[in-house]
Amino acid sequence: MRRQLVMGNWKMNGSKAANEELVSVFLGLWQKIGQAEVAFAPPAIYLPQVASLLARSELALAAQDVSAHVDAGAFTGELSSAMLADIGCRYVIVGHSERRAYHGESDQQVAAKALACLARGLTPVVCVGESLAQREADETLAIVGAQLEAVQNLLEPSQLKNIVVAYEPVWAIGTGKTASPEQAQTVHHFIRSRLGEQGAVVRLLYGGSVKASNAAELFAQADIDGALVGGAALNAEEFFQICQAA
Ligand code: PGA
Repeated sequence: MRRQLVMGNWKMNGSKAANEELVSVFLGLWQKIGQAEVAFAPPAIYLPQVASLLARSELALAAQDVSAHVDAGAFTGELSSAMLADIGCRYVIVGHSERRAYHGESDQQVAAKALACLARGLTPVVCVGESLAQREADETLAIVGAQLEAVQNLLEPSQLKNIVVAYEPVWAIGTGKTASPEQAQTVHHFIRSRLGEQGAVVRLLYGGSVKASNAAELFAQADIDGALVGGAALNAEEFFQICQAA
């Protein structure tokens, strides 16, 4: 009932030539139709390029961030959800831990961005996750619960069922340290129960050093519905293998 979703977050990587190479190698490999849903999240400036590379495929386009302001106006440097929808995005990553850490995005701002996405028909991929210090202090569920609650407080239940949540422990992002399948499942189960009635339909992705070698055991967990992949998404063959495992 919940279709698996694998999303490649390219972060601040790529070039016109490298993007074309990555997408074309991936499309050459990707012949399984109707299995997992696959999405690419390139840097914003390359969204139109990747949109045209994906045009005749079933693969989805995602943005890495969006403005919390829904309506057009004097917000220098910002991109609205309407603009992202206009150029063909289906998803937007909101509240990635790098945005929370380097741009000071609060739980409330992240929730406002999720709402801005929904207002223009985009699906927000809401990232939550604890730091190493928080995990060691046994605060994981409290932190993740609070990040989720900010979104639940702002969205109507009918909107909540249209989001995707990505659990990304900060200590596992780009470090090579993956949460064990059991650690990830524990938090995913917690998130699903916190989502209440909507939990049955909301897809929960795991992120943090997902690789071809660990994807299958993560995807085998009952409450893991796919992955948000960083580093390994920059290699077409490895990203393909992760998608195949889903
Ligand atoms: P990683 O990044 O796969 O390189 O750990 C995941 C993410 O930040 O979404």
